[in-house]
Amino acid sequence: MPGRVILKPHKDKPVRERHPWIFSGAIARAEGCSDGDTVEVLDHTGSILGRGAWSGRSQIAVRLWSWDADEVIDDAFFARRLAAAVAARGALGLVFNPGPDAATDAFRLVNGESDLLPGLIVDAYGPYLVLQAGTCGTAHTLPQIVAALGAQLAPRGIWQRSDAEVREREGLPPANGLLQGEEPPPALAVREHGLRFEVDLRGGQKTGFFLDQRENRRLAGEWIARAAGATAAPVVLNAFSFTGGFGVYAARACPGARVLNLDASEDALALARANFARNGLADRAEFLCGNAFELLRRFRDARRQFDAIILDPPKFAQRQGQVPGACRGYKDLNLLAMKLLRPGGLLFTFSCSGLVGPELFRDVVAGAAADSGRPLQILARLGAGPDHPVLTSFPEGEYLKGFVLRCGCEP
Ligand code: SAH
Repeated sequence: MPGRVILKPHKDKPVRERHPWIFSGAIARAEGCSDGDTVEVLDHTGSILGRGAWSGRSQIAVRLWSWDADEVIDDAFFARRLAAAVAARGALGLVFNPGPDAATDAFRLVNGESDLLPGLIVDAYGPYLVLQAGTCGTAHTLPQIVAALGAQLAPRGIWQRSDAEVREREGLPPANGLLQGEEPPPALAVREHGLRFEVDLRGGQKTGFFLDQRENRRLAGEWIARAAGATAAPVVLNAFSFTGGFGVYAARACPGARVLNLDASEDALALARANFARNGLADRAEFLCGNAFELLRRFRDARRQFDAIILDPPKFAQRQGQVPGACRGYKDLNLLAMKLLRPGGLLFTFSCSGLVGPELFRDVVAGAAADSGRPLQILARLGAGPDHPVLTSFPEGEYLKGFVLRCGCEP
């Protein structure tokens, strides 16, 4: 007998509209549910709305696998869902472990809720897969998921990086390690738009690389090159550089550009150095380890100027209560960066805090612009690439947002 979750009256609407989460407050009764189990979800009249995974300790008590009353959650279900996610990437020209001529071999293959597999992230890095199972449901069904991935993609290895904070909220311990095949090497070289990047799949941040910024890295390089013209030598500040990403693109797109990469992590900067070298750009980059807030302040006091600045900080707000502090952090950073821009300079500013929505982030950036006393224009709005789709019924999936701003010439 499967577990059953009966919703309170009037709490079925989001489920009918295909929101994948059921909060514990919407539930009238839960019968025979244990963590990770697939349970039936019923409205208060007893009619079935779908099936999902139970998670007793989380505020999100159920994550729906399916809204189809007849769909069984078995091996074939996971095989179907994974095949659909793989096909969607194929339609974008992103193929797992492509031949040596492919320009890109690192991308997101499964984007959780938005690929109808709540809690599951699967990233492709060359012949390897890195998997994050952030919820009781995905932890419980991991063998089925791994079997389907193995059968469909024949990866050289599947590595688990389920050390994310979300697991704590689900009462799950972090889980890192090999799930199938061979262990990935400590530094794996992957390709992105024809550039090479070394990634540390086992120990690096996130699943090793910030794949969501791939298209924005390319765009930033193009914007910087265009703004600089054919002969100029723009000076680029790549703040929160991680392993060099945006800076490597800028240096490739703009042959005269010099890039100052700044990050708090020595390990990230060591890989950044390797990445500039690997792409034949070593002489165009500098590296500075430290706190971006302090270093930007120091640059301001020294009246340093940059032609382009990238601000791609980590997530500042993990919980609702942290949103005001996060906004102060974003404002502080953006204000400092705006003061460092040469007239005509470009600022690429991002926030990956899902709790800071696009409108709020815009207000924060506008507030910083007002305080800077400089004329800033929004040239473009940016988000995660199309291998990070957002299901329309799941606005929570839209966490990354950014702006390209230009500092207008002073009147
Ligand atoms: N732009 C990068 C990803 C940035 S991830 C890319 O395209 O790959 C955020 C980075 O910010 C991490 O490398 C982290 O080490 C760094 N970081 C976190 N807090 C910082 C701080 N206060 N000052 C400088 N760097 C910081």
